[in-house]
Amino acid sequence: MATKEYFLPKSLDEATRLLAEHGLDLLVMAGGTLAMPLINEGISMPEKVMGLRHAGLDTAISSNGAVIIGATATFTKMLALKTVPLLQQAARHIGGWQIRNMGTVGGNLFAPPPAGDFAAALLALDAQVKLSDSDGHRLLPLSEFYTGFLTTALAPGELVTELQVPIPQGKTAFSKLGRKHANTPAVVTVAAHIIVEGQSVTDARIALNGVGAHPIRATQAEAALVGSPLDEQAIAGAGAAASQECEPFTDANASEWYRRKMTDVYVRRTLAQIAG
Ligand SMILES: Cc1cc2nc3c(=O)[nH]c(=O)nc-3n(C[C@H](O)[C@H](O)[C@H](O)COP(=O)(O)OP(=O)(O)OC[C@H]3O[C@@H](n4cnc5c(N)ncnc54)[C@H](O)[C@@H]3O)c2cc1C
Repeated sequence: MATKEYFLPKSLDEATRLLAEHGLDLLVMAGGTLAMPLINEGISMPEKVMGLRHAGLDTAISSNGAVIIGATATFTKMLALKTVPLLQQAARHIGGWQIRNMGTVGGNLFAPPPAGDFAAALLALDAQVKLSDSDGHRLLPLSEFYTGFLTTALAPGELVTELQVPIPQGKTAFSKLGRKHANTPAVVTVAAHIIVEGQSVTDARIALNGVGAHPIRATQAEAALVGSPLDEQAIAGAGAAASQECEPFTDANASEWYRRKMTDVYVRRTLAQIAG
């Protein structure tokens, strides 16, 4: 291992100061579930590493109609988050218990596709991501955080420090298709939050993972629902729209064709759960 210095800041201020001081030479590590295998195999050889474990970013607090989740909160911690069942469901569908114990909510935003199941649930909940550097903070809708395949809006010197998640006002559902029942990468993951008032859908948020360069909102599927009753016809329209707008890929788990087909099926199933 080429690492010569390891920093373990005790606060966010110390972490952002270290990052400003050492710049891109410093590898940020949270749970290490993605970073450590790359180091162990010699693919990544950082001379300096900063662990975030003791920086005080692992809290989950409900406040003013929102849940504020620290970036280093683990998926295991999310399993206990009773106020937002969609996030509990997403956490339950990530890896095995070792990954849920070590992997973090913030780290999931950087995971290569088809990982990103938790991020999909955050997208469906319209979460905002807080980015911090030594000069302060900025808030960004999570949908604007992703800029492409393995690229994000995170600027040099910034850390992801929080996810701010409004408590959902409508009904939510989560479905994931993998090649196995559990501990399996996504063929497609769907997270949805739907508000129905009277007879019609007034707000729809559908997020997909495993069918694009990063987790995405299926905005055309959402538009197909708003203003209609959440009935079979509208649900079929949303499934068809999602399967058209996603940009799936072929890998060892599934072909592009199968991912697209299953997007239609799983969007319909997820919405049918909400429709009851
Ligand atoms: C065996 C296995 C199975 C998995 N299964 C699933 C699955 O089913 N579904 C799924 O969605 N995901 C899955 N994953 C991915 C998993 O969600 C991620 O590995 C995890 O979320 C990464 O978090 P981490 O804290 O370990 O990241 P780390 O390994 O610590 O960091 C990963 C990257 O993110 C950056 N980073 C991390 N935190 C921050 C921060 N706060 N600010 C700035 N940069 C940061 C690091 O610099 C690094 O580049 C799996 C991973 C493994 C290894």
